[in-house]
Amino acid sequence: MSNTKYQTMGQQFGRRSWAEPWKIKMVEPIRMISHEERQKAAAEAGYNTFLMRSEDVYIDLLTDSGTSAMSDRQWAGIMMGDEAYAGSRNFYHLEEAIQKYYGYKYIIPTHQGRGAEHLISQAVIQKGDYIPGNMYFTTTRLHQELAGGIFVDVIIDEAHDPIHQHPFKGNIDLDKMQALVNKVGADKIPYVSLAGTVNMAGGQPVSMANVKELREFCDRHGIRIYLDATRMYENSFFIQEREEGYADKSIAEILFEFCSYTDGAWMSAKKDNLVNIGGWLAVNQADVAEKARNMVVVYEGLHTYGGMAGRDMEALAIGIAEGVDDDHVASRVRQVRYLGKLLMDWGIPIVEPVGGHAIFLDAKRFYEHLPQDLFPSQTLAAELYIDSGVRSMERGIVSAGRDPKTGDHRHPALELTRLTIPRRVYTQAHMDVVAESIKAIYDVREQTKGLKMVFEPEYLRFFQARFEKV
Ligand SMILES: *Cc1c(COP(=O)(O)O)cnc(C)c1O
Repeated sequence: MSNTKYQTMGQQFGRRSWAEPWKIKMVEPIRMISHEERQKAAAEAGYNTFLMRSEDVYIDLLTDSGTSAMSDRQWAGIMMGDEAYAGSRNFYHLEEAIQKYYGYKYIIPTHQGRGAEHLISQAVIQKGDYIPGNMYFTTTRLHQELAGGIFVDVIIDEAHDPIHQHPFKGNIDLDKMQALVNKVGADKIPYVSLAGTVNMAGGQPVSMANVKELREFCDRHGIRIYLDATRMYENSFFIQEREEGYADKSIAEILFEFCSYTDGAWMSAKKDNLVNIGGWLAVNQADVAEKARNMVVVYEGLHTYGGMAGRDMEALAIGIAEGVDDDHVASRVRQVRYLGKLLMDWGIPIVEPVGGHAIFLDAKRFYEHLPQDLFPSQTLAAELYIDSGVRSMERGIVSAGRDPKTGDHRHPALELTRLTIPRRVYTQAHMDVVAESIKAIYDVREQTKGLKMVFEPEYLRFFQARFEKV
């Protein structure tokens, strides 16, 4: 296997491990409340981990969004904020960083990823257009639908199989693309919504070969490609590790090449870019940039801050460069794998291969006796919290929402509970505690009964839905 620098010493000699490429300078104390208090907190939150107080949580694996630890350099950058309303110097640093590492021309800052999704969707989708994508993401699809678009899943079939060992389960199936073009016509498809390390598929990457082929296909049909670049650093790591010809290229080189096959990107900077808040849109077409700039002043802020403070843009510009570092990305992905390996060694069902940012427990196999309408992954997240104060999240039937046409629950093939690892925050000992708690609830799984939904919001229901035990 390539990338010998990181993995090997441990495996070759049995005792030499890799370690995080940082040391701890400041700590935030955490504590675990009692079992009784956890039971009460879970019931009060309607068994929805989004409705819990962070103070009641011991190890918080709800999300890797905005939960990373910033470096001393980023905190120093915070002190360098230029809070001018227009033309802040930090905006130009941000613009330079995005142009340098991602290679796009026009940069529009936004308050976070969904702000950028809103702008791009409104700028390029006409009512009745079709938007093919490699599996959906909650906010991405919603913005496409609100702009009048119809989302079509064109990810390869292997992505829907939680144990298929395909190395690039995020790939787009070009036959599905061709079928869509034949059915609706290329002029009804403004762009392909391509995501790196597909979140809902378990953090699964897209190969360089696939994006190249997609580019050729789209050029033939006059379709653009816009990239959800939220976790492209991790995607680039998998290309470096698994794809022929990339072992000696840096993450930065791989990222730049990948982006060069796309027409622009939106970004939740709260993930790969190592900041607590922020996002951006970047495109290569002047007309799309102009439309988005017209809208950014309505919905986000002036086009040189887009909802972010100057200091936040400075921390983001620094985070972009730090996040793309090879040692950083390797240690991050390896920490996720460490947790995955502990679970697999105990026979606990998870999505394989282990992805870039999270472990996804396969709740269908974990609770084989629970039908999907009893919300097995929501149940698993609740049980895990009650056992040990570890907070995870549902990624299954609740997240999938209802079909806008029929109003029925969508029944996704994957019913998962996600344990998302924040960047540079937890140690290996925290991972041990998490794994042991999962094992404990797995051992008593047959006694677990499931949940029923007692409150359901209209949009993105997983955030605020409430449940009761059946
Ligand atoms: C988080 C995320 C978004 C949305 O970004 P926010 O910053 O949360 O608004 C979009 N796409 C993917 C893949 C994400 O993980």
